[in-house]
Amino acid sequence: MVVGADAAGMSAASQALRRAGQDVLEVVAFERGHHVSYSACGIPYWVAGDVDSANALIARSAAEHRANGIDLRLRTEVTEIDLDASTVTATQLDGGVSYQVGFDDLVLATGAVPVRPNLPGVVAPGRYGVQTLDDGAAVLRALTERPRRAVVVGGGYIGIEMAEAMVRRGLPVTVVDRAPEPMATLDPDMGVLVREAMEGMGITVLTGIPVTGFETGPGGRVSGVVTEGGTLPADLVVLGLGVRPASELARAAGLPLDEHGGVLTDLRMSSAGSRQGVGRRRLRRGAAPRLATPSARGIGNPRHQAWQGDRHETERRLRDLPRSGWHRGQQGLRSRGRPDRAVGG
Ligand SMILES: Cc1cc2nc3c(=O)[nH]c(=O)nc-3n(C[C@H](O)[C@H](O)[C@H](O)COP(=O)(O)OP(=O)(O)OC[C@H]3O[C@@H](n4cnc5c(N)ncnc54)[C@H](O)[C@@H]3O)c2cc1C
Repeated sequence: MVVGADAAGMSAASQALRRAGQDVLEVVAFERGHHVSYSACGIPYWVAGDVDSANALIARSAAEHRANGIDLRLRTEVTEIDLDASTVTATQLDGGVSYQVGFDDLVLATGAVPVRPNLPGVVAPGRYGVQTLDDGAAVLRALTERPRRAVVVGGGYIGIEMAEAMVRRGLPVTVVDRAPEPMATLDPDMGVLVREAMEGMGITVLTGIPVTGFETGPGGRVSGVVTEGGTLPADLVVLGLGVRPASELARAAGLPLDEHGGVLTDLRMSSAGSRQGVGRRRLRRGAAPRLATPSARGIGNPRHQAWQGDRHETERRLRDLPRSGWHRGQQGLRSRGRPDRAVGG
């Protein structure tokens, strides 16, 4: 069973089916959105006009996945995982019907959710995030309404790509960021080069300026971005403020999370959950529910059986790995400080 049917989820689903064969493995994939296997990375190119349509960004359609044998259920959200019962609760978003489905192995590929700070006006119409194809379509629609000025909040790579796309559509664009230079993931001296390239394209770059809210005008539409340095007029605002793991389902199911909210996994990206006593009993019965985050290498492969280890067992396995893997593993164990949770299948 796969929850989330974009890049990670459908790669895992297709790979599992390829390796195990349709006569052995049944794969059910749930996706709450309208599209699967799409390139979010291509959205700025679509907005810029380099890509003609959303279809060009879909690597494999729902129909193709179904023809390959995957039971793909679109517009269906998984709202609960019950590890004890090995079931998920799924809700059809267009019909409101909820039902439960059992699983042997579960791939959690729910991706990330965009960061939305709790600032005044942050939900005003005219303000856009960019994560799904539907978001890209919304920005394109907004561009046809002849906006006069766009402000991008956040100078990370998505903000910069969207700023470039809108400048190429002929719109004056300002990027504002509280960091000293754009692309704060780079060293500042590299960020300076990015700033120069952006300014060379005609983008106004304002840095070191925290945004404190959004001004609204007639009809409640966004009319400006309020910063500590004053208000920037804008009738189209794009937020590019980063993402956090979409791990709410995992948390509610009792899976261990790290300090950033990501699911704690072993070296195979598997997690047997925080209720290890339950896991052990189920494992001895040969029925442990195995959960894998996106790189589900073990799924469907009988050589990768579920296992449950304590610290000594984990360290023994790490010693058996090639040298580089062992070092990474050791650091991971130490930094997490909870080695007994490095369990999985
Ligand atoms: C504008 C933009 C540009 C990007 N550019 C690049 C780039 O140049 N290079 C690069 O490497 N990466 C880029 N990325 C990042 C890349 O798109 C992501 O890393 C990738 O999409 C992650 O894939 P995923 O399958 O893990 O998660 P996602 O793509 O986030 O997919 C998760 C899916 O799970 C679904 N889902 C979530 N919860 C549930 C639930 N409870 N029930 C059912 N379905 C659920 C969601 O609807 C979603 O479709 C970009 C992203 C964006 C937005």
